[in-house]
Amino acid sequence: MSTPANPKPLRPKFWETVPLSKMTEAEWEALCDGCGRCCLNKLEDPDTGHVALTRIACRLLDNETCQCSQYSIRQNFVPECIRMTSETIAQHAYWLPNTCAYKRLYEGKEIPDWHPLRSGTAQSVHDAGISVQGWTIPEFEVPEEEWEDHIIED
Ligand code: SF4
Ligand code: SF4
Repeated sequence: MSTPANPKPLRPKFWETVPLSKMTEAEWEALCDGCGRCCLNKLEDPDTGHVALTRIACRLLDNETCQCSQYSIRQNFVPECIRMTSETIAQHAYWLPNTCAYKRLYEGKEIPDWHPLRSGTAQSVHDAGISVQGWTIPEFEVPEEEWEDHIIED
């Protein structure tokens, strides 16, 4: 779900005042901090529903920019990639990383200082060590049965 930056004008501090369901498309897209964490593979325990995050990245994730390399046509290659909306956030929040702005606002939390909307620069998500820049492994390099050796958040 890592998306390109959206240049359309946004209401000042909309993330503090506008409910998720009332945001414009531009505001919704701007909530994405570009961390790329949602493009990492997860391991879900079928019995407990517990989700562990791995450093094994979707085949389309660019390890340097943390963006999807084929965003507009990604579902041709990764049909299971979801498009998150205010209607579906409730069903996806459990597997999103705790840093994700969509999850945080859904849970009634603030977005952090390093978020580009607050810092004014996309670089801050990398400088804060939140993005996946430089430390993912492409999924085609590791057999699925070994993904549990690469868990980073449990
Ligand atoms: S296709 Fe992969 S890299 Fe692209 S947005 Fe979906 S999960 Fe992320
Ligand atoms: S985890 Fe959330 S904030 Fe980070 S890239 Fe994915 S949707 Fe955007």
